[in-house]
Amino acid sequence: MTDFHRLSIREMAEGLASSQFSSRELTQHYLNRIARIDPQVKSYVTVTPEQALSEADAADAARKAGQATQLTGIPLAHKDIFCTQGIRTSAGSKMLDNFISPYDATVVSKAKQAGLVTLGKVNMDEFAMGSTSESSYYGATRNPWNLEHVPGGSSGGSAAVVAADLAPFATGTDTGGSIRQPASFCGLTGLKPTYGRVSRFGIVAFASSLDQAGPMARSAEDCAFLMNTMAGHDAKDSTSMDKAVDDYVADLDATSIKGLRIGIPKQYFNVAGLDAQVKARVEESLKQLEQLGATLVEIDLNMVESYVPTYYLIAPAEASSNLSRYDGVRYGYRCENPTNLLDLYNRSRSEGFGAEVQRRILIGTYALSAGYYDAYYVKAQKVRRLIQQDFLNAFAQVDVIAAPSAPTTAYKIGASLDPVEMYLGDIYTIAVNLAGLPAINAPVGFDQNKLPVGLQLIGNYWSESQLLSIVHQYQQHTDWHTQRAAIAEENA
Ligand code: GLN
Repeated sequence: MTDFHRLSIREMAEGLASSQFSSRELTQHYLNRIARIDPQVKSYVTVTPEQALSEADAADAARKAGQATQLTGIPLAHKDIFCTQGIRTSAGSKMLDNFISPYDATVVSKAKQAGLVTLGKVNMDEFAMGSTSESSYYGATRNPWNLEHVPGGSSGGSAAVVAADLAPFATGTDTGGSIRQPASFCGLTGLKPTYGRVSRFGIVAFASSLDQAGPMARSAEDCAFLMNTMAGHDAKDSTSMDKAVDDYVADLDATSIKGLRIGIPKQYFNVAGLDAQVKARVEESLKQLEQLGATLVEIDLNMVESYVPTYYLIAPAEASSNLSRYDGVRYGYRCENPTNLLDLYNRSRSEGFGAEVQRRILIGTYALSAGYYDAYYVKAQKVRRLIQQDFLNAFAQVDVIAAPSAPTTAYKIGASLDPVEMYLGDIYTIAVNLAGLPAINAPVGFDQNKLPVGLQLIGNYWSESQLLSIVHQYQQHTDWHTQRAAIAEENA
């Protein structure tokens, strides 16, 4: 068999369970593809072939011994923000270029317990700050649909590996859209869970009250398999919720589109900068959902103009505090020949952090400083509460809310957007993080340049199962999620 990469996760699980192929064969197939195709896509920061093959052999042995889970032996890639014991965790930064974690993130250890095989660590914007993956110290990752375009960010590597079939699925994190926007740019399904559903333990922190990890894959069904291994309470993360986890795979048929009330926030479709093609594809997908039995309900989300200013105070404020730990002393990059302690701090941070990260630290430190704290940080927290209330009011009327995931399709590499232009591109995703809600991206077509467009569905708290199920139902009637970029069609 030469085209393992065309199989769904369910088909891989069935093939392994019935001994049609081994984990070693499957893993070797992906390693071959990575060796041949990744030099064009540049999605992996670190590939771990030896470890992957030894994990694959262990998976095959476990299966023979009758100790396999459904996913045992299936490969995956981790965003390079998840700590992996013994393998470098760079967070896309020169600061952590030499950092090898002494422990695994909970998401990583849960994946290992399920028997998943790690192919390697994939590229991302530095410390997950960005929307293109270009701020990575390791250079830009390419969009498999068009190598001159970005895959989105910050989980751009996670999106690119799946879209190029260099991994069957991948983990990502989403602080302000970093799962949904790259999924949208690369034609994938990506779920940002409710804050507290997935443990943040061992994830390099960006903005702790917003960060949440989730799955990225071709289909809702594939995401559901990975979500089953990721979700759950973790005593090591005090913000993770001690609440029973759904069986996301079993629930894929649990929600019917028939009778579903989908809220259409009218303010969202009047945003300046919403690309006409994106708008058209999203509206077509909503028509399809209507034909499948959903009711579209026009709703108001009045706070849309506050989203970008609020997020771009709170996220940098938390980042400036989280990133104060990188001082050149404990771990990470240290400058050469410091003359004194202040020089050591100063130069290690100036040389170790890239421009976007430095910008955020400066904005955040300013917003938190005495004299400005009330005017900026405290005010942003109050507005955050109003944004949440706005969503809760909407959920009194509708089951889910529909929006584009991003106002445009993938930018050209090097488009050198100014920072504010780039921040405005986050308009549809960041409010979801401010409110702590779950949301999913589903591919719904292409623009005139054959770049993917995504629909975002935002759910009420703990509705991951419902979101996956709705997208799964939609994907039973459409084939956007099965379309592949030309580079993914190539055999290794
Ligand atoms: N693009 C947003 C930012 O730059 C979101 C990033 C993320 O979700 N990690 O902050």
